[in-house]
Amino acid sequence: MTTFPQTPSTTDSLARFVAGLPKAELHVHHVGSASPETVARLAERHAGDTRVPADPALLADYFTFTDFAHFIEVYLSVVDLVRDEDDVASLTYDIGVGLAAQQVRYAELTMTPYTSIVRGIAPEAYCEAIEDARVRVARDTGLELRWCFDIPGESGLPAAEVTLEVALGLRPDGLVTFGLGGPEIGVPRPQFAPYFAAARAEGLHSAPHSGETTGPQSVWDAIDLLGAERVGHGISAAQDPLLMEVLRERSIALEVCPTSNVCTGAVPSLAEHPLPALVAAGVPVTVNSDDPPMFSTTLTDEYCVAAGMLGLDTAGVADLARAAVRYSFADATAKARLLGEIDAYEAAWPGVG
Ligand SMILES: [Zn+2]
Repeated sequence: MTTFPQTPSTTDSLARFVAGLPKAELHVHHVGSASPETVARLAERHAGDTRVPADPALLADYFTFTDFAHFIEVYLSVVDLVRDEDDVASLTYDIGVGLAAQQVRYAELTMTPYTSIVRGIAPEAYCEAIEDARVRVARDTGLELRWCFDIPGESGLPAAEVTLEVALGLRPDGLVTFGLGGPEIGVPRPQFAPYFAAARAEGLHSAPHSGETTGPQSVWDAIDLLGAERVGHGISAAQDPLLMEVLRERSIALEVCPTSNVCTGAVPSLAEHPLPALVAAGVPVTVNSDDPPMFSTTLTDEYCVAAGMLGLDTAGVADLARAAVRYSFADATAKARLLGEIDAYEAAWPGVG
């Protein structure tokens, strides 16, 4: 979508390096990862009761967003297609297979159990469905999936209550993180502090969205009030030198999703994206895909986009992949194994064939 000042051979070579590079994905949404084929299949099943097109070819138009509010509206119309535990299990399994095909070895998938529960899926059935998919994905592809249960901010405190209850009451094996998503404007972060405190007290990590469509204050709130160990997006931190210093000193990484920010209108263009400024200030960053099919992207594409924005070569891209592993909530053994894989891949490049 954007051209960068590189020769075609450099770009091709780097793209091939990225494609084969073992990767970790830290910010990708469950329903937002449904492939056009999956969305179309679900839309067909619920034809007459949804405005989502049942033709994959028409989805590109449907997934063209006028602004962030429109993006949320479209997103929720797709969420509405996932209506029983079989939908949840097959969607989760398909996402895992798609990530593994991009050489993703470890992914923290952001799940929003509340939106399924209010559509009538029992919490126990929801957790069983995702755990079943997680085990099958690991067995069939080697990909390790973990969950971030997030509060859909637009549904307020009742959603926070239910999300916390499911997280702590059922505590599926793959659950590692407590999060907060949805719109930020009109959804102040401080009100969620007690829920994050309770989740953290039970050993869950904190990774709320903040500073995507609002200013640096929401990132401060995420750190000071929600105990954020990573921040979803957090890009408005670039407007606040003191905040960037705090992020650097406390090693709080941002989950940056460049194409998403342009597609939702959070930033006007890639050229104006603050990623280079954040990196220049020493803020820890990871690169992620958010809702890839809705933004016509993949994690592999996002690494290429980031490489263009930051002027990275293969060594720089490998370091981006290492950062995602280090700032993940994987256990030490899994981190060491994946870092070793990245080292081996880089050392063998360009290899043969
Ligand atoms: Zn997100």
